[in-house]
Amino acid sequence: MGKQLRRFTRQIGKVRPESRHNRLPPAIGIVINLLGVNAVNQSYKRTKIIQYLMLTMLLVLVFLVSAYAGSMRKAGKIGQNKGAAGSTAGQDPDGTGTGDPEQQPSGSKNPQQSDSAQGDSKQGDSKQGNSAQGDSEQGDSKENNPEQENSEQRNSKQGDSEQETSGQAEKGTIVLDAGHGGFDPGVSGASGIAERELNLIFAQKLEKLLTDEGYRVVQTRPTQEGLYDVGQSHKKAQDMQRRCAVIEKEKPLVTVSIHQNSYPDSSVSGPQVFYYAQSKEGERLAECIQKCMNEQLEVKSPKTHKGNASYYILKRSVGTTVIVECGFLTNPEEEKLLQDEAYQDRAVCAIRDGILQYLDSNL
Ligand SMILES: [Zn+2]
Repeated sequence: MGKQLRRFTRQIGKVRPESRHNRLPPAIGIVINLLGVNAVNQSYKRTKIIQYLMLTMLLVLVFLVSAYAGSMRKAGKIGQNKGAAGSTAGQDPDGTGTGDPEQQPSGSKNPQQSDSAQGDSKQGDSKQGNSAQGDSEQGDSKENNPEQENSEQRNSKQGDSEQETSGQAEKGTIVLDAGHGGFDPGVSGASGIAERELNLIFAQKLEKLLTDEGYRVVQTRPTQEGLYDVGQSHKKAQDMQRRCAVIEKEKPLVTVSIHQNSYPDSSVSGPQVFYYAQSKEGERLAECIQKCMNEQLEVKSPKTHKGNASYYILKRSVGTTVIVECGFLTNPEEEKLLQDEAYQDRAVCAIRDGILQYLDSNL
């Protein structure tokens, strides 16, 4: 009888672990049932549970390790990009916003000073030559910049909203590029007016005229803000790259970049149009606009359109691009005129007529 009782107690003892299993969390209980371990002896069940727990822990560990590795890779990439940006920042001559070439007096090194027959034209060009040198350096920093891949994102960011609101172009697209903006005021006159503000006013007035003519107009800089990211260490280079990216994306019939001029000699005045020296189409467009401006604005000492081989927007943009320097902010009389709404309207009408003449002659 005592033997039987002991055997019975052992039997109960074997059952007891199962009752402990019943106190395990329901999820594990379900798994145990699924594994069918209830039908097997208790030590086997324990082994199974331990195996299951270990497997679960292993899977969680693998997941955590891979997630950590992924985040480290990402962080590594960002670090690399930042490093690259830092390395090119030193090459950006305008990174601080104080180095606008247009604000610098012309130097005697300018090769364009010797090839101009006309006094006024020569002086105007000398400023442009300096400007071109500065921008071309920015172009080089662009070439070395691995962040070029971002241009597509930038395009979609800046271009899409334009496209949505502008609707379908009947005659084609024209890109207008209001120079400077944001941290970069461009040149300024005696009254304190900044070039960036006038450039946008001219560009917006011209947009209206061209839209009325049935063209779809895209502004590279639709507001007073520049086209660079906040915290960007080489703002000017990024700003210029993004302007070119908009032009590349839109593939316009023509691009017209709007600027105001400056020169140490305050007597220098009058509009002047620049084109990329190797572009026949650019030359024709510049000639048309220059002619219309000279005639319609009754310029006293008219300038001739001028080729330029290094100005960033001319050199780096696709298609036919010209820069229209509407006048000199350093000339007190012209500075007043450039701020006069009636004169602004006449000036943009002249620019529009020049563009239309060029486009019509291409039909
Ligand atoms: Zn400018």
